[in-house]
Amino acid sequence: MELPKPEPVGNQLLVRVHACGVCRTDLHLLDGEVEIPRPPIVPGHQIVGTVVSRGEGAADSEPLEAGARVGIPWLGWTCGRCRYCLSGRENLCDTARFTGRDIDGGYAEWTVADERYCFALPEGYSDLQVAPLLCAGLIGYRALGMTGDAERLGLYGFGSSAHIIAQVARFEGRRVFAFTRTGDEAGQSSARELGVEWAGDSLTPPPEELDAAIIFASVGELVPIALRAIAKGGTVVCAGIHMSEIPSFPYDILWGERTVCSVANLTRKDATEFLTLAPRVSVRTDVHPYPLADAGRALEDLRAGRFQGAAVIEIDR
Ligand SMILES: [Zn+2]
Ligand SMILES: [Zn+2]
Repeated sequence: MELPKPEPVGNQLLVRVHACGVCRTDLHLLDGEVEIPRPPIVPGHQIVGTVVSRGEGAADSEPLEAGARVGIPWLGWTCGRCRYCLSGRENLCDTARFTGRDIDGGYAEWTVADERYCFALPEGYSDLQVAPLLCAGLIGYRALGMTGDAERLGLYGFGSSAHIIAQVARFEGRRVFAFTRTGDEAGQSSARELGVEWAGDSLTPPPEELDAAIIFASVGELVPIALRAIAKGGTVVCAGIHMSEIPSFPYDILWGERTVCSVANLTRKDATEFLTLAPRVSVRTDVHPYPLADAGRALEDLRAGRFQGAAVIEIDR
């Protein structure tokens, strides 16, 4: 639909959008699995654009002055005062606002965003290539951090996040095992091309025990499957914002100090760290551009698993 061009107020930047990554969370919002508090909303939270102007409250500071390339992620605002914000856990802020859920996002030609939650982007990446780093990369990075120093790492669901984080894990010297939907041979071979040691379907046990697993797929059945694949003391990290119901499982697959945890959102510290790390790793992203008018098709292709890597909406200049 046609909306009026937004006006930047307070700390906001007005941004001309060039590209916006497509995330599974967008599908969960569309399907009502994650609630939109005040619909309708413009989705999209992996926004790459150019700063055009700023609200009267925004400092005219580098590196986000007019003309600069800027990245806008999911975390759009936090209160700065609650127990979580004051303890370095702004990702858990009770009143946080999220881009593409509470704040109009990047499936649009223009957007506004609070400059305190915007990031300069690494050079050497095109707008299309850098977009998936802003959620798939960031959430994957946060999830990877929760696996500690696990050497043998399983990734369940080899999509946008996993194809980025597999490269970071390899860079860190970890051994990566990729799990896809049954019969997804294209996914398994693209995982092998990225240097994972083993790729197979998620119902097949890995060739040896894992030290940790990250579940990117929104499938609750994978939790007991991953628990059975990890060694004592290992962690299963659920990285999605939504997951179907987890079936009950016997205590003995959790016994042995195994842990199951979730990852929620991101902090600005995660963003700064990961956007510095990605070019050092030389993370490359496999992107599939769709014009803005075909955003619906991009989402349906994601749902059906019709591409490897990440879909990105490309907005005409
Ligand atoms: Zn807070
Ligand atoms: Zn996302």
